[in-house]
Amino acid sequence: MVDKAKVKEAVTMLLEAIGEDTGREGLIETPDRISRMYEEIFGGMEMDCKEILSKRFTVDNSEMVVERDITFYSMCEHHLMPFYGKAHVAYVPNGEVVGISKLARTVEVFAKRPQIQERMTSQIADAIMEELNPKGVMVMLEAEHMCMTMRGVKKPGSSTVTVATRGDFVDNEKLQSTFYGRVKNFRL
Ligand code: ZN
Repeated sequence: MVDKAKVKEAVTMLLEAIGEDTGREGLIETPDRISRMYEEIFGGMEMDCKEILSKRFTVDNSEMVVERDITFYSMCEHHLMPFYGKAHVAYVPNGEVVGISKLARTVEVFAKRPQIQERMTSQIADAIMEELNPKGVMVMLEAEHMCMTMRGVKKPGSSTVTVATRGDFVDNEKLQSTFYGRVKNFRL
């Protein structure tokens, strides 16, 4: 659980530290607003993807399932600034599939916590591997990091791409290029 009282105190201190008047009209409710917002954007800390991925359906075939362009918003743990973009998740079933929306929910569980993109990519892949036990998983994240674009090197529009492969996808160029093809080329 987010300690809202503590967040409020911390935000007040932060505003004071940069020389703001925390009593002025526009700022008076800011600590409270941020404490409520943090409950939402760090809500993944309390979510468990075991539960999300527990409802499964039996299938006969083992064709690759790809869910692409899953929009996500996360917070870089180094700067507490947003990074956001698209996640593409694929797996090759081993007799069982999950509802498509569950892949997006799994992405959300790991997005809504202080993160680095590399770890988030692996965590999504590992969670699907562990819970669904498929033949393989591949996850790709493309994101813009505000700590890169708003400050520091200031490179707006640059994106960071991370990939994780598990099981059959590891070192399998054919399967990987099928994944890239489905993610990149085939638009409805
Ligand atoms: Zn950062």
